[in-house]
Amino acid sequence: MANASLDRALGLVREVPDFPEPGVLFRDLSPVLADADAFRAVTDALVAALPPGIDTVVAIEARGFLFGAAMAVTAGLGLVAVRKPGKLPAVADRVTYALEYGTATLELPADTLAPGARVVVVDDVLATGGTVEATAGLVARAGAHTDAVAVVIELAGLNGRSRLPGGAPVTALLTV
Ligand code: AMP
Repeated sequence: MANASLDRALGLVREVPDFPEPGVLFRDLSPVLADADAFRAVTDALVAALPPGIDTVVAIEARGFLFGAAMAVTAGLGLVAVRKPGKLPAVADRVTYALEYGTATLELPADTLAPGARVVVVDDVLATGGTVEATAGLVARAGAHTDAVAVVIELAGLNGRSRLPGGAPVTALLTV
């Protein structure tokens, strides 16, 4: 179904060549967040695509927090903020994963994700899929289930989807 509000919102995404390094076309969602109608349209579309039974949003630092928090409030779900290292006073688990150059680490806050929780993992952009894959690993080790993945933009050429947990539907509002 045509959704003019969502189309307008996605039209606000800014493309920034060679950021943060040469060769990367950065998708900047700042103009979407700054526009109340656009932020609402994106949030509503992400919520509308959730499968039934989800009870928890697991959002990835930093831009995943913005969309994940908005989804959680809109849909009446709990929010678990998966953080970069050194930010959390109490850590339940951590995962280190490979980037193109080097590694990255994400940490799950203690006493947040209940065993058996049904989770949607949220980030702004799905690129290689390594970040969402690592987060889904934390969810699994906590005894919870990644039932869905939600991103605003998917960079289809990198095939990040292939690394994600089997069976979990991936919602991307914009595929480029
Ligand atoms: P990946 O682990 O490769 O899927 O990378 C995903 C993370 O990197 C997300 O948290 C994104 O915010 C960020 N990211 C990767 N590529 C881009 C891009 N072209 N534009 C904006 N953010 C990106």
